[in-house]
Parts: sequence; C-alpha cells; structure tokens
Amino acid sequence: MLPVGYRRRISHQHLPDDYVYCPHCAASLESVTLGRRHRMRCPSCGFVHWRNPAVGAAVLVRDASERILLVRRAPEATRPGLWSVPAGFVDYGEEVREAAARELEEETGLIAEIGEVIHAASNFHDPAKLTVGVWFVGRVTGGTLAAGDDADDVGWFALDDLPPLAFPTDETLFERLRRGEV
Ligand SMILES: [Zn+2]
Repeated sequence: MLPVGYRRRISHQHLPDDYVYCPHCAASLESVTLGRRHRMRCPSCGFVHWRNPAVGAAVLVRDASERILLVRRAPEATRPGLWSVPAGFVDYGEEVREAAARELEEETGLIAEIGEVIHAASNFHDPAKLTVGVWFVGRVTGGTLAAGDDADDVGWFALDDLPPLAFPTDETLFERLRRGEV
C-alpha cells in the first residue's frame, strides 16, 4: 500500500516527462493549478494535458493443478528478464476484455475466454508512467503455447515456487491467492 503523502506529492508537483510543447499548436506549455492539481496548459490554444494513468489488462490463467501461467519479459520490454502475468496496455478505443484476450494471445499463443475480475490495482512503481491494472481470470479455449511479442519465454509455476517477478502488483495478487482471499 502506498502512503497517502506519496500520492499527494505526485499530484501537485511537476511530473516526470511532462509535455513541454503543445501537441496541437507547438507553443510552450505553462504549469497551472486546475482542480487543485498541477496541469500543463497551452496559453495559445487552451489545450490542457489531463494526464491520466494508462490502463493495463492482465489475464490470470491456471492449469488443472493450480499452476499459474507467467511470461518472461523480453529484452525490449520494461523490466526485461523478470516474469509477469501476461498483460499489456488497452489501446485507445479498445474494450478492456478484448485487450486482455489480445495481450494473452500475443504473449503466450493461447486463446482464452475472459472471465471475472480477480484483482485491480494502481501501479506507482514507475512515476513517469503510472498505470491502473485490471486482472481477469482466463479460461483457455484454444491456441498453442509459445512466447511472443513482449515475452521471450512462458511457463507454468506453482504459487510457492515462483520465478523473480517484475511487478509488485502481481505479487500482491499472488499473496491474496495464497491467503485464499480470491
Ligand atoms: Zn496549443
């Protein structure tokens, strides 16, 4: 759990990688306070950068012996060499469950029916790229297991024998599973 002070701090100060120029008219943006939060606004055309976290969709797939499907992150992915639940960003205009199914298929080759939400969490581990993750339960209906896209390996792991993990929020889900909460 992140301390409240951290949330306040990153809400009111300049954020890492703030836009410098207006994406519409190329004027220099100015730092303003709108709705009690720091925003970057264009003094020329009025554009405001309403900076929101990106949404990630993840799919928890388990086999008959409750092992979990994980992917190893490829060299060009964030946190390469570490393992994560298959996941990726929801494209603009894409439905969140369709994104979850697409990411699972791209990274593991498996086709799955996307079921209920098992976990949701804000990710603050990269202040320059805040995200909100939604983890769905996936039930495999087809495909052939093979790593692809952002993954260079894929495997099944027991909850008590997991490889090094890339993301603390996956870890939180696994702790909830171990405690039998979900
Ligand atoms: Zn502008």
